[in-house]
Amino acid sequence: MIVVASTAEMQQRALEVRSAGRSIGLVPTMGALHEGHLSLVRAARRDNDFVVVSLFVNPTQFGPNEDLQQYPRDFETDRRKLEAERVDALYAPSTEEVYAAGFQTYICVEELGARLDGASRPMHFRGVATVVAKLFNVVQPHRAYFGQKDAAQVAVIRRLVRDLCFPVQLVVCPIIRESDGLAMSSRNGYLNPEERKAATVLYRSLREAEARYREGERSGEALTRVLLECLAAEPLARVDYAAVVDPDSLLPLERLEDPALVAVAGWFGTTRLIDNTLLGESRHDYP
Ligand code: AMP
Repeated sequence: MIVVASTAEMQQRALEVRSAGRSIGLVPTMGALHEGHLSLVRAARRDNDFVVVSLFVNPTQFGPNEDLQQYPRDFETDRRKLEAERVDALYAPSTEEVYAAGFQTYICVEELGARLDGASRPMHFRGVATVVAKLFNVVQPHRAYFGQKDAAQVAVIRRLVRDLCFPVQLVVCPIIRESDGLAMSSRNGYLNPEERKAATVLYRSLREAEARYREGERSGEALTRVLLECLAAEPLARVDYAAVVDPDSLLPLERLEDPALVAVAGWFGTTRLIDNTLLGESRHDYP
């Protein structure tokens, strides 16, 4: 595995791989790698000749009072995990490399970027869309791998790819969970033992909504109420949002369509966590 910090070198290597007729798969990450990330890496390894994992804690997607400084960083451990997955290139640029002095070009996915997580984290998806567009230009991937864990991010990036005609196929991989259902996240390490226990309420609320859906409930409002009641029963959880939306537009559904995205976000102490599930027969074919 080569480790590349220079954008010019990464782009040059990618162009060489493409000219040799080999396919490139990209997995964008912020590091602190867990099994969720590695599931994306394995999918990329399965589908492509050349696998690039990017590791960059992107400052522009953090708000002023968010956890940019505390965000877990362990380059050596991440490097070893990726080596073991037979990754071809680890692209790990510095902040100055990505945002050189004078940087001022941002990509804003206007309406989608302001929904769900975008509503509570106003500049977040501007930062995400900008860095992903840059990664696409640098790494020139045929396919890019994202986790369903970040469902709103998937919607934003799908829109970005369509709107700006990136010749990239998006591959969305299922959510990987701990044995008690908590979705794996680099931020789970912030939780104290009580918060860690309480955080399973996100998954439990989704299961509850799923059960009501199977019993025939099709009202978005009723299912949202189920989520909120379940979340309210956990005193250590503070709800950020609970929503039943169209997975492309992220707009609330009055009557459920197939598929429907059920998404929750909550605070456990100072840690914000998210989770979601897709409902409907076509959820297996989605996206
Ligand atoms: P991050 O490092 O948090 O930016 O995540 C990098 C990629 O890994 C994103 O596409 C995430 O959606 C994905 N990811 C993070 N956690 C999980 C998980 N538990 N299951 C599947 N994918 C995940």
